[in-house]
Amino acid sequence: MSRLERNVNIVAVVVPFLGLIGAAVLLWHHFFGVDDVVVFAVMYLLSAVGVTVGFHRLLTHRAFQTHAWLRHLLAVLGSLSLQGPVIDWVADHRKHHTFTDEDGDPHSPHVGVGAGFRGMLHGLWHAHTGWLFKTHGQASARRFARELVEDPTMRRINRSFPLIALASLLLPFMLGLALGGGALAAGLSALLWGGLVRIFLVHHITWSINSICHFFGRRRFDTADHSTNVFWLALPSLGEAWHHNHHAFPRSAFHGLRWYELDPSGWLILALARLGLAWDVVRVTPERARAKLASAERHSEPA
Ligand SMILES: [Zn+2]
Ligand SMILES: [Zn+2]
Repeated sequence: MSRLERNVNIVAVVVPFLGLIGAAVLLWHHFFGVDDVVVFAVMYLLSAVGVTVGFHRLLTHRAFQTHAWLRHLLAVLGSLSLQGPVIDWVADHRKHHTFTDEDGDPHSPHVGVGAGFRGMLHGLWHAHTGWLFKTHGQASARRFARELVEDPTMRRINRSFPLIALASLLLPFMLGLALGGGALAAGLSALLWGGLVRIFLVHHITWSINSICHFFGRRRFDTADHSTNVFWLALPSLGEAWHHNHHAFPRSAFHGLRWYELDPSGWLILALARLGLAWDVVRVTPERARAKLASAERHSEPA
């Protein structure tokens, strides 16, 4: 891909997002206020942590252990992000790790696409959104998420997905009502920002891990895939954008492996461990990371 094509893509991703911020600024005090920001932030953090710490690091990769009640609570919180029922999510994601960027990967931007600029757009579209209409929820739960299928409470949470989705809209509405002293307009405004806009943003940040973090960005380990680290997505994705680190060490509770690789989900797992709410936290020692780096350098040396 040429530098120009890459820059055009980055602009296409960033400008509409800046547009949303612009719209929010213009609507300030009219259809967007402090209460909406509060409801948005609370709902964003609850649903995104549910995905990153719950669906991803705990349930998919068993990066730490915790009490059954917290495990199930995180499964409910992740479901608030409207990315499908929890067991489907975990099965799809384990399949992604089994077949990363090869045939069978539900959302690789590199599989089954043609060459050139058109192939690149096709691949990015498939990895970001297109896969939702083709391969989403197709991974066998029995094969890829057996222990979740065997947990009756997890099955109930899985079945209750439509109800949790409804709650994902009702909750910001009620919070808005409460903060606005019962005014219907306050409830509706919070429903818009803490419900729809928040779901939109959490969706696209999560999907960006599948598309952008397998295409643009930096690599340093010798992994047999195209995964990348994308620093500007690190904070909004709560640390998930250190996705290349994650493919190098899938079970690690921490995706940021250097002090400047900001990883809020990892910090939360650390805090849970301090509180006695998480244990058996999987860590990558600096020596292990260095050894993998060294082997990557050996492989990249010209023969
Ligand atoms: Zn990946
Ligand atoms: Zn993963």
